[in-house]
Amino acid sequence: MKQVNNSSTWSLSRMSLYKLCRKGFFFRYCAEPTQELSRLKKLLGLALWKNILLKDAIVENMRFSKILDPGDRIREIESEVLKRFHMGWNNFIAAKRHVEDGRNLTEIFYNNDNSLLSTIFRRMEDSLKSTMLKLGDCELIINLLETRYLNFKDFKSPDSFLLGGITVWVSPDLVWQDKDGNLNLLKFHFGSPEENPRWDIQNGVYALYGSEQFKVSLGRLGAVSVFFPENDSPPLTVHAYRNIREVREIISSESAELDIFQKNPVLNNEIFSLENARCRNCEFRRLCEKDF
Ligand code: SF4
Repeated sequence: MKQVNNSSTWSLSRMSLYKLCRKGFFFRYCAEPTQELSRLKKLLGLALWKNILLKDAIVENMRFSKILDPGDRIREIESEVLKRFHMGWNNFIAAKRHVEDGRNLTEIFYNNDNSLLSTIFRRMEDSLKSTMLKLGDCELIINLLETRYLNFKDFKSPDSFLLGGITVWVSPDLVWQDKDGNLNLLKFHFGSPEENPRWDIQNGVYALYGSEQFKVSLGRLGAVSVFFPENDSPPLTVHAYRNIREVREIISSESAELDIFQKNPVLNNEIFSLENARCRNCEFRRLCEKDF
């Protein structure tokens, strides 16, 4: 497979994929697109789709709902999430039957077993419901729903900014200015802090992005992560970010590592197995030389 040349670019998701699987990184960021590759790149994994469904419904409700009572707002968000899930699932199933070129869910695209699909559907629905039950237990979300003075900012997500010649991609979920004039950038995580171990670096990158994009000094910037663990643990809100000097150093060294790999991609003979969840749910299974 031919490769394309990329300029220096860093994002947390890019780096995470690089650490997880060099082949997956090569397919997504280095290989010259073919019809097959372009089609597989459009596949969306269940975990990412769940994040998108929840995050979009919460963010849109916070910004545009006319309802005042926070309890009613939470119920409004819940019904919107389930509506989008059912509609999206039906569309993905229809796309699997009729076309192979549109966007699809990885787990549906690679699966013909109806009983397995029903199990995936039920698990996803249960997981969405249990996460939404926790929304009302999150003090920050209730505060944001109740507060009328909030000045939500318009911004592109994902967006990028330049840091020492490196294009850094970011995708905060909410940006707002509070009544004291401080700018806050928020990221939702549907999983525990342990499952999102680099959240403090990500928050640091958001602080840098906030100062660049909205021209606010670092002293007036807050970055906050809200975690919704899958287990029985309550939601967790953390206002913190990694030291900015360290964040700059991490981006610089990791981006240099990605540059070296992209100039000469060496694909290791890693040990693969169908038991490996990443392989089982990987959008590039068809292209991988493994015998599935
Ligand atoms: S199938 Fe497994 S080895 Fe192949 S690209 Fe995907 S994650 Fe990597």
